[in-house]
Amino acid sequence: MGISAKTTTVTGAQPGLYNAFVSILLNADLHCHSVVSDGTLTPEALAARAHANGVQLWALTDHDEIRGQHRAAAAAHALGMDYLTGVEISVTFADTTVHIVGLGFDADDAQLIRGLAATRDGRGERALEIGRQLARAGIPDAYQGALCYVDNPDLISRTHFARYLVDTGYCRDTNEVFRKYLTEGKPGYVSHRWAQLGNAVRWIREAGGMAVIAHPARYRFTATEEYALFSEFKQHGGQGVEVVTGSHSAAEYATYADMAQEFGLAASRGSDFHSPGESHTDLGTLPPLPGQLTPVWQLLAGRILRAPQRTNAA
Ligand code: AMP
Ligand code: MN
Ligand code: MN
Ligand code: MN
Repeated sequence: MGISAKTTTVTGAQPGLYNAFVSILLNADLHCHSVVSDGTLTPEALAARAHANGVQLWALTDHDEIRGQHRAAAAAHALGMDYLTGVEISVTFADTTVHIVGLGFDADDAQLIRGLAATRDGRGERALEIGRQLARAGIPDAYQGALCYVDNPDLISRTHFARYLVDTGYCRDTNEVFRKYLTEGKPGYVSHRWAQLGNAVRWIREAGGMAVIAHPARYRFTATEEYALFSEFKQHGGQGVEVVTGSHSAAEYATYADMAQEFGLAASRGSDFHSPGESHTDLGTLPPLPGQLTPVWQLLAGRILRAPQRTNAA
C-alpha cells in the first residue's frame, strides 16, 4: 500500500492560542539523509535516533530519491512518531546548485518519481569524471573506492568520495576533502546541471506537497541573485524556507526569519543530519523556530502521516 496522505486520518486542528503555542515549539526535524542517498544510517536507525532525541514530527529527505520513504514512515509509526514524506531535490539556479526540500507529497506520484529519476541520471557519469580528475591530481582509484561507500547505485555523491579520501588518509575530515578537492575550482570538481527550479517545485506541488528552500545561507549569492531565487520560487508556487537548520548560524536564523516574513513563506526546521561521525548537529537538537513565523507543519497538518494511537493495555 502506498503512503499517500490522502489515505490517512487527519486529526482536526484544535482551536485556541495554546495549540498555536505548542505548534511552534513542536520538536520537528524535517531534513536528514539515510543510506538511500549520502547518509550513513538506515531509515530505521535514523527513526530510532530521532525518536530517542525527542523528535515528534520527522521527515527523511534523501537527495533526489524517495526510495526510503515507505521504510521511514513505517519505522516512525512503529515508534509512535508522526511522519511527513520528504526529499531534497538538486536544482541549478543562476549557475549555482540550490537544494529544494519537498514535504508532505504522495510518495507514489508518477511525475515526481520520473522527475527525480531524470535528476539522478547524470550522477554516474559525473562520478566517473570526478574519479578521472582525482587520478590526474594523484589520487588513483577514487571512483572504485567511493563506490564501496554507496548503498544505492543510482545515488553516488561527492560525499561518498569524501568518505573514501578520509578513510584512505588523503584528508583529515570530509570538510577538508570538499575544501581541497570537491568544490568549484578544485581538481576533483565536476560541474553539473541539475533540475530546473520551476520543475522541482511543480513535481512537489503536483504530488500534493510543499516546496521549501533548503539552507539559503549556504549559497554564495549576491543580494540580487538571492532576491531572484526567492521571487521566482514564490512565483512557481514555493511556500516555505528553512530558517533553523544545521547549516545556519544563530545570526542567519534571524536573517532568514525576516526573509520568510518579507516573502510570506512558512518556516521549516531541520538538522540536515548525515552521520554520527560527521554531522555536528544531531537530529532533534536545534532551537525552536522564532515565534513570529508560521511553521511549515501548520500548513501541512493535513499531510502528516499520524502514528497510530497507542492504547495502554489494561
Ligand atoms: P552532490 O549532491 O553529489 O553534489 O553532494 C552534495 C553533498 O555533499 C551535500 O548534500 C553535503 O552532504 C555534502 N557537502 C557539500 N559541501 C560539503 C562540505 N563543505 N563539507 C562536507 N560535506 C559537504
Ligand atoms: Mn548530503
Ligand atoms: Mn542540501
Ligand atoms: Mn541535506
